[in-house]
Amino acid sequence: MLDRPIAPAPSSVAATQDFVEPAEPTAGPPHPFPHQQPQITHMFAKSLQREELIALRRALNQTAIVAATDRAGRITHANPRFCEISGYTEGELVGQDHRILNSGHHPREFFQDLWRTITRGETWHGEVRNRSKSGTLYWVETTIAPLLSRTGVLQGYVSIRFDITARKQAELELATENVFRQQAENLLRQIVDTIPAGISAFDADDRLLIYNDAFKAFYPKVADLIQEGVRFDEILKAAAERGQFAELAGQTRDIEAWLARRLREHAKPTQSLVQKLDDGRWVQIRERRTYNGLHVAIRADITDLKLAEQTIRRQAEQDALTGLANRAAVYGRVERLLADKAPQGLLVVTDLDNFKAVNDTLGHDAGDELLVVVGRRLAGAVRKTDMIARMGGDEFAIVMGGITSRQVAERRLSKIASFVQQPVALTGRTVQPRISMGVVLIGSQTGNRKDLFREADLALYQAKAAGRGRYTFFDEAMLRAAERRQSDIEELRTGLQRDELRVEFQPQVNLASGEPMGLEALARWQRGSEVISPASFIPLAEESGLIIPLGSRVIELSLAFQASMRARGLRSGRLAINVAAAQLKLDDFVETLANQLSRFGLKPADIEIEITETVLLDRSVHQIARTIEKLDSLGVTIALDDFGTGYASLSHLKQFKVDRLKIDRSFVADIRPEDGRGVIARTIVSLAHSLGMDVVGEGIETQFQSDALKAIGCDIGQGYLLSPPLSPDNTEQYFQQRTLAQPHPSMRIVA
Ligand code: C2E
Ligand code: MG
Ligand code: MG
Repeated sequence: MLDRPIAPAPSSVAATQDFVEPAEPTAGPPHPFPHQQPQITHMFAKSLQREELIALRRALNQTAIVAATDRAGRITHANPRFCEISGYTEGELVGQDHRILNSGHHPREFFQDLWRTITRGETWHGEVRNRSKSGTLYWVETTIAPLLSRTGVLQGYVSIRFDITARKQAELELATENVFRQQAENLLRQIVDTIPAGISAFDADDRLLIYNDAFKAFYPKVADLIQEGVRFDEILKAAAERGQFAELAGQTRDIEAWLARRLREHAKPTQSLVQKLDDGRWVQIRERRTYNGLHVAIRADITDLKLAEQTIRRQAEQDALTGLANRAAVYGRVERLLADKAPQGLLVVTDLDNFKAVNDTLGHDAGDELLVVVGRRLAGAVRKTDMIARMGGDEFAIVMGGITSRQVAERRLSKIASFVQQPVALTGRTVQPRISMGVVLIGSQTGNRKDLFREADLALYQAKAAGRGRYTFFDEAMLRAAERRQSDIEELRTGLQRDELRVEFQPQVNLASGEPMGLEALARWQRGSEVISPASFIPLAEESGLIIPLGSRVIELSLAFQASMRARGLRSGRLAINVAAAQLKLDDFVETLANQLSRFGLKPADIEIEITETVLLDRSVHQIARTIEKLDSLGVTIALDDFGTGYASLSHLKQFKVDRLKIDRSFVADIRPEDGRGVIARTIVSLAHSLGMDVVGEGIETQFQSDALKAIGCDIGQGYLLSPPLSPDNTEQYFQQRTLAQPHPSMRIVA
């Protein structure tokens, strides 16, 4: 800033320390050297009239600060403006040298130079800062010229000054401002350099204005280009051509389009975008236009974040056990396939037959190992572009694109089956995996993902029903069958509401003595005049969950019947009731049963619970085992039904508290005079006895079978030969007569 105070006057004459101003030749007191006209006067006199001279002097006096000195620099004349700006009267000034006005601003050399110039007879120009009488400071632009006589002798000096205080002040302010701006810029630069993110600012012309090292470090391939003044598009284009961007790796064709798009984004920045660099780094770019048209951007290295994100996504789409894709991933894949204009391919849903048995007999680790092996084999049997996913449990899905014909599909399926169904060594045992596959050919008529998987599941269901270890292609008939099943379920629901459920009882006989030992309750659905077999409606009830109300109704009817038998004093023995897995999974199954028993005045020993082998293979095996234990502690006996048809093993028999085995009727049917003596039946009997269990032979239709079973030590018999299932009334009669029946005529079961 300018020293304060600033001279108030617009112009004045300045004097300096060592300078003595020459007298003004045309004004004021008489000329000190009248015989020697000063050169300047002489020149003017030559060309100007006296009036003109007067006018000129007036004009000069109005605009300029004029003074004259003698040769020694003593003031001989000062014009009014000089007096005005300096604050001295002319009287105070004359005889003084210019030191009177010294502001102390200029160094000594400044005036030495001045004096050297004018004593050489040359004109001196300069800007001088003076101090007025009152102490205010002011600037004058000063010209000092020597006054020479006609013969060239130095007479003194004349000075003309113009007040430039205002300009000087403005200049100083500007300079100060510049210093500040410079400082601010330096500070900004330091800040920008300290920020770890890449910073760039481009001017309205898209030329690089500011950037930091971090910005440059993102683009090493164009580091040589990155400097102030370079246009954004130049940097971008060079970076693209030099392979800086991973997106463009191996591409030449689409660079132009890519550049155009990126330039559009740059021109109209929205929120943020992410760039992948050729070295694997990910950059998040946030661009913005400032109010004054600058384009500023911040770039952050988000590689770690991206990698973490990828890991999470991979985990979210990966099955932890097998490392294969999971359900979510295969759904995504199928949806993408179906989004094609003309989708083509194959969806296979597959599961391992009897996987549960492996888990149960060899342990869960062996089960897991088998799943891993199967997963690996499936992956090895398909192309790299196909997808194998584990859907959960022992279920896998395979998606293959581009398959249009059934023949090709069949070849692929056979290959998969032969790959997977090789023996596997697990914990010292050799297991032969078998898979069933439900297959759908995907074409333009295929519905959505849900439909597709439903179709594959239906086909799988069929494959299993048809005997496992095979593949089945979906066809429309399956859909219709499924729909029919659905409507049957609805009918069953209505039937239950209308109380159409009945129970029949089939006597069980002591084979040695011929005495009736007990009964088995068998459900019947009395639909109008038709009696529907449980073989048809129990599966529907299990599938739909209706088995819970249905089962509880059977128990209710059975207990009521047993109570009425007891009330009549009929010794009908134990009443066996068939129970499904879903019932055994109910937390309060045993409590409810105990309550019902006491409500009917019955004892636990009056009944028996029959479970099938598949119950023991259920996924909720622990829950079921708990229920069985509770039943046992209550005093209810357990019979294992249809023994030999499922995959229950010795370990199951030991694991669950089973009192009795029922030899499945297929093994009893094998006992024929011509070819067999019932090897399996015999084995089951000895197994049961060795485990301390009773054995019931089911489905005895002939005397031969009855005798054979008796001969091998089978304890109890059940079958049409002994008695078919009977209505409650007929059962009552049966026990009243206590006869060992002939085959009964009242077979009224319609499948
Ligand atoms: P299951 O428990 O093995 O019952 C024996 C089945 O064999 C009965 O079929 C019975 O009628 C039939 N049967 C008896 N003697 C002979 C014979 O000499 N020859 C032939 N061929 N068959 C004979 P049903 O009544 O059709 O029952 C079929 C299956 O339905 C039952 O097999 C049982 O698993 C199931 N079931 C029946 N009632 C219920 C129930 O209340 N709850 C549950 N969960 N399942 C039931
Ligand atoms: Mg049974
Ligand atoms: Mg049975």
